[in-house]
Amino acid sequence: MPEPARIVPSLDGLSRAFWTGGSRGELMLSHCQACQYWIHPPKPLCPRCHERDLRWEPTSGVATLFSYTVNFKAWNPKVPVPYVLGIVELPEQAGLRLTTNIVNCSVDDIEIGMRLRVNFEQHGEVFVPLFEPAASVERLRTESAG
Ligand SMILES: [Zn+2]
Repeated sequence: MPEPARIVPSLDGLSRAFWTGGSRGELMLSHCQACQYWIHPPKPLCPRCHERDLRWEPTSGVATLFSYTVNFKAWNPKVPVPYVLGIVELPEQAGLRLTTNIVNCSVDDIEIGMRLRVNFEQHGEVFVPLFEPAASVERLRTESAG
């Protein structure tokens, strides 16, 4: 069996729900029940109000591209280049950001502020949340409908 190109996280820690929500197609984040603050990466208590009443809840799964960089150098021969490292911002809360890869998009078409949607990459029990252009999916649907 080929070794996975991606380093797959352990499911033992606080972030288990984050890495497994993709099995249901859900991007799960920790949400403070006391002050409604979304927390990423997960913490044992709310960094805003210091309460411990946190629950994992699904987000909308959409985002906008906050920043990115394109990697052209094959640091790992098992990871095809170029690939895009992105920081995406979720609409649930100002400043709620995830570091991820932008996939299913030509490097030339990447733009700050572009609308994205989550797309999970499965490795056994782990579903890594990646993001792809929301518009390309809509465009394909429109083209096939017309
Ligand atoms: Zn809170």
